[in-house]
Amino acid sequence: MKIKFWGVRGSIPTPGPDTVKYGGNTTCIEVRLESGKVIVIGAGSGIRGLGNYLVANDMKNGPLDIDLFVSHTHWDHIMGFPFFTPVFIPGNKIRVHGPVNIGEEGLEKIFALQMSYNYFPLRADELAADITYELLKEGTYNLEGEVKITTKILNHPIIDLGYRIEADGAVFTTAYDTEPFRNLFDGDPGDEDFDPDAKIEGEKAANLNNRRVLEFIRGSDLVVYDAQYTDQEYKDSKIGWGHSPIEYVLLNTIKAGVKRVALFHHDPMRSDRELARIEKAAQERAARIKSHSIEVFAAREGLEVQL
Ligand SMILES: [Zn+2]
Ligand SMILES: [Zn+2]
Repeated sequence: MKIKFWGVRGSIPTPGPDTVKYGGNTTCIEVRLESGKVIVIGAGSGIRGLGNYLVANDMKNGPLDIDLFVSHTHWDHIMGFPFFTPVFIPGNKIRVHGPVNIGEEGLEKIFALQMSYNYFPLRADELAADITYELLKEGTYNLEGEVKITTKILNHPIIDLGYRIEADGAVFTTAYDTEPFRNLFDGDPGDEDFDPDAKIEGEKAANLNNRRVLEFIRGSDLVVYDAQYTDQEYKDSKIGWGHSPIEYVLLNTIKAGVKRVALFHHDPMRSDRELARIEKAAQERAARIKSHSIEVFAAREGLEVQL
């Protein structure tokens, strides 16, 4: 399978002279199988470019048949959908898969909300393609053509799924937006409401969940991993924001025997120069670990990786 990055940025698009090298679009990844099947992960602003590419190239062979998976419905991961040209073309089939967790709102409703007249000139029911929405939970799914997809709930303020795609003899995994699970009952023994049993149970639950993520990415040929923060930034003020520190990402992927890791969901504040420095530091750090060799790079728009 071939992976291509169309958007690598977190939170908000960041076009401009300081983000030319790595790109300023929010997350979108194209997974192209040997059969020609296209799976899209993420509908951030990067999906606009992918849509134009598909219309200009793939549609020469007829209507599109696409599976689009979203990690979660935070705006940076769905904002590109109204600009994904294939949704306006009759005959195209697009199946949108993803989790939801707030209230009674289904995936379809959440996608439609950003296409109400307050935000956009067209309504979702005016889209001409055949679009269906499928709610995903944690589990294993099969797409036609021997594609196995495993989902894993990650640690983010809303339900967020990682995707592990096994096809063409390769394993490609995404793990964003997420941070390490931590003990939610890690109180101070001096506090009045401190509960030592809850602290022990909380520790166990966090460890178990972190081990599950490790198993989820184990043996992947490539993992696209949330690495929005440096360790210092994370410790100083970002714990609980739902994004990972780079050091943790390196250790986790090395422990899990991953072959390649793409640092992903770059902070909108990060310039090309800073990202290049972070990428180099991560590569040097990984090279010092002799027990396992892993290829580390910062995801950038336009980059293609053959697995
Ligand atoms: Zn995000
Ligand atoms: Zn998010």
